[in-house]
Amino acid sequence: MSKMPPTNGPIDRLGRGVRDLRISVTDRCNFRCVYCMPKEVFGRDYAFLPRDLVLSFEEITRLARIFLDLGVRKLRITGGEPLARRGLPTLVSMLAALRSPDGEPIDLTLTTNGAALRALADPLRSAGLQRVTVSLDSLDETTFRAMNGVDFPVSRVLDGIAAARDAGLDPIKVNMVVKRGLNEGSILPLARWARAERVILRVIEYMDVGHSNGWRLDEVVPAAEVIELIDREMPLEAVEPNYPGEVALRWRYRDGDGELGIIASVSQPFCGACTRARLSAEGKLYTCLFAVDGFDLRGLLRSGASDAEVSGAIERVWTARTDRYSELRSAETAGLPKVEMFALGG
Ligand code: SAM
Ligand code: SF4
Ligand code: SF4
Repeated sequence: MSKMPPTNGPIDRLGRGVRDLRISVTDRCNFRCVYCMPKEVFGRDYAFLPRDLVLSFEEITRLARIFLDLGVRKLRITGGEPLARRGLPTLVSMLAALRSPDGEPIDLTLTTNGAALRALADPLRSAGLQRVTVSLDSLDETTFRAMNGVDFPVSRVLDGIAAARDAGLDPIKVNMVVKRGLNEGSILPLARWARAERVILRVIEYMDVGHSNGWRLDEVVPAAEVIELIDREMPLEAVEPNYPGEVALRWRYRDGDGELGIIASVSQPFCGACTRARLSAEGKLYTCLFAVDGFDLRGLLRSGASDAEVSGAIERVWTARTDRYSELRSAETAGLPKVEMFALGG
């Protein structure tokens, strides 16, 4: 992989700058995906964050501006389900108005389960959102309904993707998490569909995030197996990463258009190039997807801290960063306490 881009911002203990900020705008979600918020654990009485503990749009925008000054050039809105946050287009317009100190363009995108995209694609595009990633684990009705845990139909997500395309949210990426025994059979149909629809499919290895999904290594379908399966029917060749720190391994179809990404965080970890910070809905800063705790930025903001003070606190957290969980993963680490993915921003 090529060298990390220069940054004037903080560098962590392993030489990594901060380039991407994932902003979780809510911990709530209308789905109960088996690998994220299994419905047996996250039932009706599960206590999500009360509204006053969730960062306001003004607080999020202020923090995003400070992160841009520290080197961030990519903002991804996530959750929970980000479209469940009321007034989201307003936040998007506030973030879209931000500029980097050196004039370098800012990539502003969002990851969603797609359920509410039909209603929101246009307002989000008008507010300045550039593109979207939609999660979709299968085109097979029974499989998808079982995986999303709430019997949500595939057709509604497909309609959401169509709405995103009509709105000009391009290019559209589709995230598929593969869990062995559930949806390996959906890989080829989704790959064929994605090619025909000209969307970029990204197959994600099932990860041991949080502590509720009962993750087991033998339920991970390794990237090499996914590639072999697709390559047998539609020959593939590897493509260079778009930019240093890109997490997806990229592949192109040999016989024409179309591209595929694989996020092999279990079988081929990429911590060495990980320039991601995560801001949870309650305003904690996490320096790794597998973190046990985060730094309370909300407390600092609400205590009246100046921009310089907030920026200094972020710099201190980042310069102390040593995270490389995926490179150290083992049977033991999988059982350690970690923050849930929907809480810290997937
Ligand atoms: N609710 C939105 C969605 O599903 O797109 C955004 C938040 S979700 C936590 C972000 C991404 O994380 C989704 O693409 C989801 O499939 C992925 N994800 C969640 N749990 C995962 C796990 N255990 N392993 C791998 N990916 C996971
Ligand atoms: Fe909700 Fe996304 Fe988690 Fe599924 S992966 S439960 S849609 S937050
Ligand atoms: Fe980054 Fe942590 Fe994932 Fe490694 S395990 S790539 S440090 S988020």
